[in-house]
Amino acid sequence: METLRPDWPLLLLTTVVLVATIAFTLCFPLVIGEVFDLVRANGGLAGEGAAAAINPFAGLAPATAGAPPTSFTAVMLKLSACLVLSATGNAMVSWCSSLLGERFGHRLRGWLMGTLMARDQAFFDAASKGDLLSRLTLDVTVLQNTLADFIGQRGFRSMFEVVGALAMIALQQPLLAFVTLFITPALSRLLRAVVVRSSAIIYQRQQVAAKALDFASERLSQVQTVQVFAQEERETGAFRDLSACGYDMAQRYAFFQGIVEGAGRLAVNVGTVALLGLGGMLVIQNRISVGALLAVNVFNLFISVGLSSVAASLGELGKAVGALERVAELVVPTAAAAPAADSANAVASSNSISSETRAAAPSHSSSGDSGEQALVAGISGVAARALEMPTPNSTNGSGSSGQGGQVEFRDVWFRYPGAEDWAVKNFSLTLLPGQTVALVGPSGGGKSTIAALLLGLYHPLQGTILVNGQPLDPEDQAGGSAAAVGMAAVLQQAMLMSGSVREQISYGKPDAAIEEVLEAASAAHADKFVRQLPNGYETEVGERGHALSGGQKQRLAIARALLLHPTILVLDEVTSSLDVTSERYISDTLRSLAATKLIIAHRLSTVRRADVIAVVAGGMVVEQGSHHDLLRLEGGIYQRLVNTADLGAFWVHSGA
Ligand code: ADP
Repeated sequence: METLRPDWPLLLLTTVVLVATIAFTLCFPLVIGEVFDLVRANGGLAGEGAAAAINPFAGLAPATAGAPPTSFTAVMLKLSACLVLSATGNAMVSWCSSLLGERFGHRLRGWLMGTLMARDQAFFDAASKGDLLSRLTLDVTVLQNTLADFIGQRGFRSMFEVVGALAMIALQQPLLAFVTLFITPALSRLLRAVVVRSSAIIYQRQQVAAKALDFASERLSQVQTVQVFAQEERETGAFRDLSACGYDMAQRYAFFQGIVEGAGRLAVNVGTVALLGLGGMLVIQNRISVGALLAVNVFNLFISVGLSSVAASLGELGKAVGALERVAELVVPTAAAAPAADSANAVASSNSISSETRAAAPSHSSSGDSGEQALVAGISGVAARALEMPTPNSTNGSGSSGQGGQVEFRDVWFRYPGAEDWAVKNFSLTLLPGQTVALVGPSGGGKSTIAALLLGLYHPLQGTILVNGQPLDPEDQAGGSAAAVGMAAVLQQAMLMSGSVREQISYGKPDAAIEEVLEAASAAHADKFVRQLPNGYETEVGERGHALSGGQKQRLAIARALLLHPTILVLDEVTSSLDVTSERYISDTLRSLAATKLIIAHRLSTVRRADVIAVVAGGMVVEQGSHHDLLRLEGGIYQRLVNTADLGAFWVHSGA
């Protein structure tokens, strides 16, 4: 919150300049009145009563018929000075307030991003990406613009101007100020209605916009599926419907704004007519000068313009309240579920996509893209302990250091928020330092959840996960606990962020020397293809960069993990999308690592070499042992699995 403290010096400067500018602006009608009376007194205008008129303006010399022309020049100079000073002040206020808004928006976005990055996986499961993005960008922009507008352009400034002009009128003739005041309560009620209504409409409109954004971003990222299944028209239609809903909302808002605008102007015009009538009478009775009446009318103009500015600004403020509610929902933990509820459709549709993907690709058992990204995010740069590992030269990892890398799941239970069934229950498993433990079993059995729990992306509801004898601290934010104990992960669908190849590999340790990057790339069998890229290690890849094949991305993801020299490595069948040469090479590399490895395995070749194989079904370990131990289990799941010689096919066809 500290970072959101306003910029006090800039705010102070803006306020001082604002007050000075308003003062200059308010001088303007007074000087105009002076000019008018001077002209009239010198015979420029017909009218006998001028000299005798009561002139309430302080500093204005009683007008006499023989006033020297120099006084006229002086008044004109005064008028020009007022204009120049108020224009300069206006420019400065506008500049300072925009700057204030920009700085606030910049800091708020940064702070929100930090807050979001620290949310746990359950939050992201429930939220939709489009919705989060629109809150982080569109809503923050609304807040920042409103702040600038309110401070410098319309809100405060117009309020000060209105009050100042009213005070000036009261100075001339309290009766006239009373007439002006008469219309104000009616207007203020109108203004309150504007704020309440427009904040509600804007909140709804932003929600619809977020849904449309989410829908578009998802369909665009899945455009191949849409085209292959020839669903372009249906998807376009669905997007149009969403967009039309936003349009309906915008129409309601525009209509409402129109009514407000019209009613506001009417109230103001009625006030002007009343003021002219009464003021005119006062002039006829010689109680005020014509110049004073003119000044009062200009002040009245200020008030009407000021009030409509305040109305518009309050309308913006209404928008900002709507935006603020949406931004606050990102931050307040109790409202964590709200973004999900608001984007229920979008979330539901993305779920249906991921379950399709799951069915179509049985070998992939993760909980969808968001899980994958979050797991990748869980790889942290804190690799200090990992770097103390012995060099990975032994032929087999087992029996290595024996110091770091022990993992123990002790009677762990976990259920996803909102789910009825346990994804993991009564789960106990020990990984000794340097061991390779393979998790096998039916899709949906809980393997990915176990990996996510170990990486600290979710926390067990019961039971404990001990690493090197120490329980993982559930207080740590997502992934933090994993990083602190030297864990790294490579997941099946390697996701790259935009950036150079070098940045991809050193993601977990941004200050890694190029030698470390090269070493990791060689170990992951990536060095050769990287050197053939247009700019070698500096080639931009990822979202908007050079397109890489699945296997190439996978090798970069492996290099990214290897660079950290982790003590514990979580691997989700990482070699599945590799060509035979790379697979053999990387399998050898991984086997030579001293790290403890937890592998979610689908290939028999990977599984049989593991020190321990745990068959996981229904969230529990149902069989455990070495390949040979498990093969001896007559009628066991593992035995059946091996007989089919294809784990993926086996699990799908067996209906598990
Ligand atoms: P596996 O990796 O063995 O395929 P998972 O760990 O992905 O199994 O899933 C275990 C269970 O948890 C399944 O019933 C699955 O539907 C459920 N599940 C997985 N991810 C989520 C999630 N993000 N939210 C709710 N339920 C989930």
